[in-house]
Amino acid sequence: MKICSVRTELVYVPRLRAYDKVTLTALGPADLSEYGLVFIDTDEGITGIGEISTVFFPHGRLLCELVDETLSSIIVGEDPFRISYLMGKLDEAITGAEPAKAGIDIALWDIVGKALNVPVYQLFGGMVRDRIPLSYSVPFGEPEEMAEFAREKSAQGFRTIKVKVGQGAEQDIAAVRLVREAVGDERRVRVDANMAWHSPKEAISIIRAMEPYHPELVEQPLPRRELDGLAEIRRQVSVPIMADESVWNPQDAMEVIRHGAADVINVYVAESGGMQNAGKIFAMCDHANVQTMIGSMPELGVGTAAQIHLGIAMNNLCLDSDTCGVLYHAEDVLLTPLRFEDGYAFPPDGPGLGVDIDEAVVERFRQPPSHN
Ligand code: MG
Repeated sequence: MKICSVRTELVYVPRLRAYDKVTLTALGPADLSEYGLVFIDTDEGITGIGEISTVFFPHGRLLCELVDETLSSIIVGEDPFRISYLMGKLDEAITGAEPAKAGIDIALWDIVGKALNVPVYQLFGGMVRDRIPLSYSVPFGEPEEMAEFAREKSAQGFRTIKVKVGQGAEQDIAAVRLVREAVGDERRVRVDANMAWHSPKEAISIIRAMEPYHPELVEQPLPRRELDGLAEIRRQVSVPIMADESVWNPQDAMEVIRHGAADVINVYVAESGGMQNAGKIFAMCDHANVQTMIGSMPELGVGTAAQIHLGIAMNNLCLDSDTCGVLYHAEDVLLTPLRFEDGYAFPPDGPGLGVDIDEAVVERFRQPPSHN
């Protein structure tokens, strides 16, 4: 089999709002996902579908251009089954741009699965679990409205609630306390600072004040390169520390492990450069005794399906994951929606990723919505 063409489709998909406002976290406001869909056509009539998703610079438009103008020419004419070889060629040509490479990697796995008539999770070692337990994130707001939002999500079946913090110590601590009161002791409450705190000292004092409300873990308390600081926080508090923004690709995971900077690593398909690289991070964590979950940008349906297939097959996926990015958007791009039920994500049926694109929806999302 040979790759005939690679094309991308840039989409602007509206995010759901919270408390009737644009969703806000320590990373800033998010009212739109500027992402890309990747289509890889082969000479045997099989088309693989991938997704470029990122909330960081460079955004979707630039990454689509990178695929169309540079990365596509590197893989056209090649055998799509040679995924390790092809991803190696892309890494040699361009450093970084992981979400663009992930779009290609996901589409290649989709092709191989379709050609062999098996779901992608079979290519990653087969089914370890038949569904993935989910966490749902509560964006910035007044502590009372955050607690109400958490209560709603808990009632919908989510067993883990992630409280976004970084609004100021007092408000953050109040939010965690009220969310804990709202969801009760049966639910897990985790905290995500998205790099908001400035020093280990500041982080340690806030985390200690949150300890009475039993957070499951605290995610990325410091900026991404502050690995010594993360290790210091980890020594000073009893709550487990999770690295998120500190870990994009497998090399980053190795650095975090070497520094003893995290109890948990939040593994991304998009940030790591694809399903294969994400699988490598899972393997490292397994041997380093670091816990794992799968994180989200949040992705649309294609990227989410890739995360779910990976999670179905990873032996050491241990914590509730964010593999429900679709649920943070007003609409999705798939013909048949992914199945989310009672706080779980289920793998789609069918070979490959098991997803098809709704072209009519994509057509509507070609342009950013005009703001009046
Ligand atoms: Mg995070």
